[in-house]
Amino acid sequence: MNAEIIAVGSELLLGQIVNTNAKFLSISLAEMGVNVFHHTVVGDNPQRLKKSIEIAEQRADLIIFTGGLGPTKDDLTKETIANHLGRRLVTDEAALNSIEAYFLKVNRQMTENNKKQALVLEGATVLPNEFGMAPGMFIHNQNHYYMLLPGPPFEMEPMFTKYGRRAILAKMDKREHIESRVLRFFGIGEAQLETEIESIIEGQSNPTVAPYASDGECTLRITAKHQSSEEALRMIDETERIIQERVGEFCYGYNETTLMMETVKKLKRSGLTIACAESLTAGMFAAEMASISGVSNILKGGVVCYSSEAKEKLVKVKKETLDKYGAVSKECAAELAENIRTILDTDIGISFTGVAGPDSLEGKEAGTIWIGIAVKNQPVKTFLLSLASNRNSNRLRTVKYGCHYLM
Ligand code: ATP
Ligand code: MG
Repeated sequence: MNAEIIAVGSELLLGQIVNTNAKFLSISLAEMGVNVFHHTVVGDNPQRLKKSIEIAEQRADLIIFTGGLGPTKDDLTKETIANHLGRRLVTDEAALNSIEAYFLKVNRQMTENNKKQALVLEGATVLPNEFGMAPGMFIHNQNHYYMLLPGPPFEMEPMFTKYGRRAILAKMDKREHIESRVLRFFGIGEAQLETEIESIIEGQSNPTVAPYASDGECTLRITAKHQSSEEALRMIDETERIIQERVGEFCYGYNETTLMMETVKKLKRSGLTIACAESLTAGMFAAEMASISGVSNILKGGVVCYSSEAKEKLVKVKKETLDKYGAVSKECAAELAENIRTILDTDIGISFTGVAGPDSLEGKEAGTIWIGIAVKNQPVKTFLLSLASNRNSNRLRTVKYGCHYLM
């Protein structure tokens, strides 16, 4: 089955809102094994919407609409589709009841306009709206399926997840199993990752490999379909094997994990304790680590040493080091890591010091960052980063790099 998403709303065309509904639906559909080949955005205009439907019918089995189900004049999705399919609009009693109940609850007068929201296309499966008034709809008409969802994401997303998904899955070939696996990468850019596995992405149909990048990380979702789910998994294994051969050194985990979760797992397995001295990240590393339960055996503590004074007084960095090399230096990062490790008597000490931006500091450009890692009985290691993002994103990424170097 392949799908097209039509987002209806002039605000989308005017750039007043971003089409996050298409993003959400595309991700959900990919997980279900439905290929999305086109996204369309069209304004609140019945003629142009009708044209978009006709185009979508030529290239998709399933057409999902979001937006325009509300009670106002510009909400025309339902009427336009009813007209296009030659179906009447009929009142759905359950939807009407829940709208009436809503008005009773908020003690407001219901208008004729609101009653219009209980109208659904004749013959449609109604998708209840648990967070708003307009019900969703699912219709099978000749060779196509149509799904109508409300525009507000907080109504649309739960409706799709709870009811829409199920309605679509029921129409899909049940003999087919869909399996998928997400591989997570860090330390390799999206462009480089795609270049390395270009031949796999290009020739794909089953399994498919979908790359995605955000916050300095990249993921690849491998999805396979087969009558036997075991075979689908074997196909995924085989595709993963080829990917790992090429870029395995950057792959840090699977599915819903994070770099920090993997770092914590590794430290736990090795029974190692850690302490941190954080200048640039000012506690972000410790906070993220502490967000994982069961971390008390490994995280002994840390210091936020934002100023030179704090570095000297709290982490015993030598005054000469700060005077001679500055706080953003290999030497300072090394001392911070080694000293915090000895002060708290841990196996590992980690430090972060650098220029978050936007301005430069000590003559060093924004994004110049040093990470120090001291491991008991080993020479301390330092790593230089040159990040080019904004202030907070630089700080977040520094924490990720810290995890990356610990692994
Ligand atoms: P309502 O009953 O609220 O009018 P509706 O189904 O008629 O819902 P629209 O009027 O088209 O939906 O949009 C309502 C709001 O939903 C928009 O102002 C916007 O905040 C959000 N919205 C609509 N479409 C999208 C979209 N594609 N992506 C993200 N948000 C959207
Ligand atoms: Mg509306």
